[in-house]
Amino acid sequence: MTNTQEIRDLENKYVLQTYSRAPFVLDHGEGVYLYDTDGKAYLDFVSGIAVNALGYGDLEVREAIVDQVDKLIHVSNLYYTQPQAELAELLVKTSFADRIFFCNSGAESVEGAIKFARKWAKTHYGKGKNCFVSLSGAFHGRTMGALALTPRPHYQDAFRPLMPGARLAEFNNLDSVAAQMDESVCAIIAEPVQGEGGVNPADPEFLQGLRELCDRYHALLIFDEVQCGLGRTGSLWAHQQYDIEPDMMTTAKPVGAGLPMGLVFLKQHVADAIEPGDHASTFAGGPVVCAASKVVVSRVANPSFLAHVQEMGDYLVAGLKDIASRQPVVEEVRGLGLIIGIQCSSSVGPVVRACYEAGLLTCSAGPNVLRLLPPLIIEKGDADKALAMIEEALRVIGE
Ligand code: PLP
Repeated sequence: MTNTQEIRDLENKYVLQTYSRAPFVLDHGEGVYLYDTDGKAYLDFVSGIAVNALGYGDLEVREAIVDQVDKLIHVSNLYYTQPQAELAELLVKTSFADRIFFCNSGAESVEGAIKFARKWAKTHYGKGKNCFVSLSGAFHGRTMGALALTPRPHYQDAFRPLMPGARLAEFNNLDSVAAQMDESVCAIIAEPVQGEGGVNPADPEFLQGLRELCDRYHALLIFDEVQCGLGRTGSLWAHQQYDIEPDMMTTAKPVGAGLPMGLVFLKQHVADAIEPGDHASTFAGGPVVCAASKVVVSRVANPSFLAHVQEMGDYLVAGLKDIASRQPVVEEVRGLGLIIGIQCSSSVGPVVRACYEAGLLTCSAGPNVLRLLPPLIIEKGDADKALAMIEEALRVIGE
């Protein structure tokens, strides 16, 4: 069946309606382009929301997946497998961490970090140390623990009561965090670059201050790099640009090369509190996703790959600032590497629409921020095409 309308009708009839989808039906991809069922090409500046770092149809990823599918698709975590053990070694050797916990999504990685922080705190300090501090504009996921740390009424209100012990402070405001701290806090969770909240990079002094507050109050610092991790910002992990080490890090989106994977990175002092049976997941760290992940992690960790991300990020931001000088609807262009936000003075919904009609996929991050997350392999020629389409779309809402 390739009839676009029939596919839309089926979806509308049978799928739980939790998404508002664009009207086209995506069929296949190649490089940095996606194609719909009517054969129209879209330059992809969404990448499955920061998932498809290597774009579409990468041969090395494909070969790793196909070879592993031929050998073994799934076994329980009751048994050792080579891809999982090797991937864990690679992740530890390219990060601050000593241990890796495997799961299947960003929200699950945050749930894992919440449990590990609580267990660590209970082991060392007893029952009363169980509160978390999260920040305004944060997004940590939609499961009940992660949701409690995602302080936005339109995500939370219908689902109360939430996990108790969640405290809110203001992003990039250290005094506000300090006011929430006492010895009952077991962890602060922060995105080094907020994604859903509007592409907001943290100030270096803010992250440094969080580290100091955690040390003073015997709390853990958790960085959520589900969206900004694995090369997106131009360093392998975003916090490396800030030179501050967390005690745990959550990540997901790009690490499975398009297959579902979440990860919690732990320092040994946190890992020491965790015992067999404390946490688990049936599908986590399966052989196929780990084989794919080894490819994407080793490719992105290469310094020349990361230099390319930085160069392309600088190139796009320079082009966008140029556009901003001509299009008064643009208030600010911000970001780090290839996670870029264009703050506008009005809703960007019509810009997203005008872009995809012209053949460019973009998404919003809050009502007034247009978010760009191209595959990390983007080159200047396609960046120029995207810039031209974005300017044309911005002109439409500026009129
Ligand atoms: N944390 C951050 C920073 C995210 O951006 C997201 C998703 O956008 C999540 C957690 C939740 O990830 P998932 O949708 O894989 O559950």
